[in-house]
Amino acid sequence: MADIIQLLPDHVANQIAAGEVVQRPASVVKELIENAVDAGATEIKLIAKDSGKTLIQVVDNGGGMSPTDARLSFERHATSKIRAAEDLFRLGTKGFRGEALASIAAIAHVEMNTRQQGEEVGTRIRMEGGKIVDQEVTVTPEGTSIAVKNLFFNIPARRNFLKSNQVELRHVIDEFQRVALAHPDIQFEMYHNGNDLFSLPASNYRQRVVNIFGSKTNEKLVPVEENTEVLKLSGFVYKPQHARKSRGEQFFFVNNRFIKSPYLHHAVLSAFEGLIKEQTHPGYFLYLDVDPTTVDINIHPTKTEIKFDDEHTLYAILRSAIKHSLGQFNIAPVLDFDKDAGLETPYDYKDKPIHVPTIEVDSDFNPFRDEEETKISGSEKKETAYRGGKTSWQGSSRQEKRADWESLYVGLGDKPDSPDNFSSVEIESDEVAGTEGKPTERLFDDRESGEPSFNTYQLHKKYIVTTIKSGMVIIDQHRAHQRVLYEQFLRQMTVKESISQQLLFPIVLHYSPSDTALLKELRETLEFIGFAIAKLQGEEIEITGIPASISESEVSMILEQLIADFKDEIPDSSFSQSDRLAKSLSKTLAVRTGEPLNVASQEVLVNNLFACKEPTRSPFNRPTYITITVEDLEKKFL
Ligand code: ADP
Ligand code: MG
Repeated sequence: MADIIQLLPDHVANQIAAGEVVQRPASVVKELIENAVDAGATEIKLIAKDSGKTLIQVVDNGGGMSPTDARLSFERHATSKIRAAEDLFRLGTKGFRGEALASIAAIAHVEMNTRQQGEEVGTRIRMEGGKIVDQEVTVTPEGTSIAVKNLFFNIPARRNFLKSNQVELRHVIDEFQRVALAHPDIQFEMYHNGNDLFSLPASNYRQRVVNIFGSKTNEKLVPVEENTEVLKLSGFVYKPQHARKSRGEQFFFVNNRFIKSPYLHHAVLSAFEGLIKEQTHPGYFLYLDVDPTTVDINIHPTKTEIKFDDEHTLYAILRSAIKHSLGQFNIAPVLDFDKDAGLETPYDYKDKPIHVPTIEVDSDFNPFRDEEETKISGSEKKETAYRGGKTSWQGSSRQEKRADWESLYVGLGDKPDSPDNFSSVEIESDEVAGTEGKPTERLFDDRESGEPSFNTYQLHKKYIVTTIKSGMVIIDQHRAHQRVLYEQFLRQMTVKESISQQLLFPIVLHYSPSDTALLKELRETLEFIGFAIAKLQGEEIEITGIPASISESEVSMILEQLIADFKDEIPDSSFSQSDRLAKSLSKTLAVRTGEPLNVASQEVLVNNLFACKEPTRSPFNRPTYITITVEDLEKKFL
């Protein structure tokens, strides 16, 4: 039989290998910026279009390349950074594999302009799909400019696999920030679709963090410093009160290279133990300098993971250094220089005392008592009680949530055409029963006839228990309310008519430039659900109207969660923007586990859940309720 093995042509091999190096526009950004850093640049500019899908250009004022080097740089395994295998153990550069440019050129249109320092003229090279199409002498500034256009033009499957512009932009910004944070002595700029996203002058570490994450960051930072034989540690952690519900800024750099390390992350967490609320995440920017011979950065192709010789020691040093800093900060609040009280306001809610819900025992539920309460509180709360959707409730602050719940649902009785709570409850369940083909129809038809309403009972401030003819239903209050809100928001986005409340005084909030860039992308959808945004620029967002269903005090929390969710690609970026937005909002606004609900609220929640299109699952695809039949119970009693 004939031999069948062949060597792949270079361009095919390059294309295959490119898959490992270049997963998305952000990978190109990382490689190009790192090359510029390695070239000794003091100024680096990133220009991107369509989140890098159409164009990624990096311009530096570094060493530049000779005409021969310029040509060679696109060859696989062509590098000026290591000569022998031993060099791998004392790396001082970002790159060393010599594959990035070859990989990028294999799957995009690339134009490089480069001139060595002190040379009269430079070189221009154009590459397409790994082949050189043009090389000429050119007039160009000292340094290098590499423009990568039409990424994955020859691998459509790969191109189609890219996420939305907004997700890809997020990745690009992440890579940009990581390198910029590691090198504050270099001036960085970033432009996206003609907008100036970052302009970071050469400065120090602290200033760089502040320039990237917004001026309000300064007062949050606590310096961390430790010098030992094995490790030189510096950087900052956020003060405990700035811990976030979602993972925010968490950065490790080892020898000025961004890395991820779950193990060291754990060291930080343990230093914060007892200082931050459960389920919140501390922010940190930590720079570790270690002897390069004691680390192996070579274990991961995209090089964000790292292997240390002596992880245990690093863990211990890190933990104690952070603890020490936090301790000092407690007795020495002078570290808060540049305090600007005005900037604190958006985060106000975090510092407010935590509301401890009182246990509500409703042993003898009396519907008329509720009505009484309505009469007392209803008059002032009336206008806020039941607006727009079936599920909105109002509140002037988080702490008042419980009271709001009450006022909301007892407010039902205020409707002139409904003399008591029951009739409106009944109307709602009638609606449900009248909808055809729903899985819940059976559930409701099942209800014991002749009952004026149904009894609900809140179990452990977590579940709502209610009876049906065949047994009982146990509803997870948080998930159920998520479902209700999720459908409500989706509806508003689709029909584009929502009730907005005009604010007397606009709310002005501050975010980092990249976060406001993200909000810009979401602006339209936010407006569909009732936000009125007057200004969205730089670090500032000015809100003049908010959805009727939320309260002013919730705005900053909602937006913060939204930003975090979109950054983390939660819940799943394959869904549409509206879907993700609705999910994020429902997650933030849904009644929590642990919140007591009065009987009227419980009933409305039950009714609203079963009026949903998909009552059985939460927006995050978790079950919202279970049923236990009398038969099931009887089996248990055997
Ligand atoms: P590596 O960075 O791993 O060496 P690359 O493919 O990224 O591999 O780059 C190949 C070579 O091209 C580098 O080693 C360097 O000599 C040269 N080079 C790449 N980008 C630049 C730049 N911006 N300025 C100067 N030289 C560069
Ligand atoms: Mg490189």
